[in-house]
Order: sequence, then structure tokens, then C-alpha cells
Amino acid sequence: MVQVFSLKTSAQTEFIDITHSIQEIIKKMGVEDGICTIFIPHTTAAITINENADPSVVRDILMELNKIVPFKNSYHHREGNSPAHIKASLLGCSQAVLIESGKLVLGTWQGIFFCEFDGPRHRKVHVNVISNGR
Ligand code: ZN
Repeated sequence: MVQVFSLKTSAQTEFIDITHSIQEIIKKMGVEDGICTIFIPHTTAAITINENADPSVVRDILMELNKIVPFKNSYHHREGNSPAHIKASLLGCSQAVLIESGKLVLGTWQGIFFCEFDGPRHRKVHVNVISNGR
């Protein structure tokens, strides 16, 4: 069954660590071994897995994304949020993470981040947990 949770972002661009929220869903569902797919149903937000030990890592990723895709340019999209659409496409809208012994299989330094590019907004995260059934 797909679980959906909401989050409220507080800046135009920011990364929010959602690892704990995903892990809680898996715990509640009681899945020991399987796979978890996380899907972001938005065109101006994304998901990425990267270091969550030192917060300056995601700050640097965001800083460089904002340089690669400037806020002002000769964009055609009339809504005025093309940079957010482009950044969302660069990072992607889904991730799959393995589950072993009831826990997300992540490296020591890895965390799952919701990536806001057109905030602040109310956002949703869809999570589908599939058990290997053993
Ligand atoms: Zn738009």
C-alpha cells in the first residue's frame, strides 16, 4: 500500500532530510526485507540521496545547482519558475532503497533528502514499501 505524508517547506530552495519519516513508515508496516520506492509528485521538487552527516554538503549542492541553473535567464515558461522545473528534472522524482532487517539500506553517511526548488509550499511524498515476503 502506498503511504503519503505531507511536509511544509520554508524556503524557496532547500533540502529536507526525510530519512527518519521513511524509516518510520517501514517500521509501522513491519516489513523486514524488501524495497522502498519514494516518489515526489511535483514538477518543481525532487529527491536525492547524499551526505546527511555534514549539513554543509547539501548546502554546497544547492549553491552549485543555483549557479548551474540561474534564477534569472531568458526562460520562456510564463509561470516564472523554470529554474525550479529544471533543477527538479536534473535530480529526479523518485528513488528506490533496499530494506534489510527492517532498516533502509543506506551508507553510513547517506540520507534521503526532499529537494524544494519553488518554495515555500505544502508538499507530498509517496512511499511504496514492498516486502520480499520471506
Ligand atoms: Zn511552472
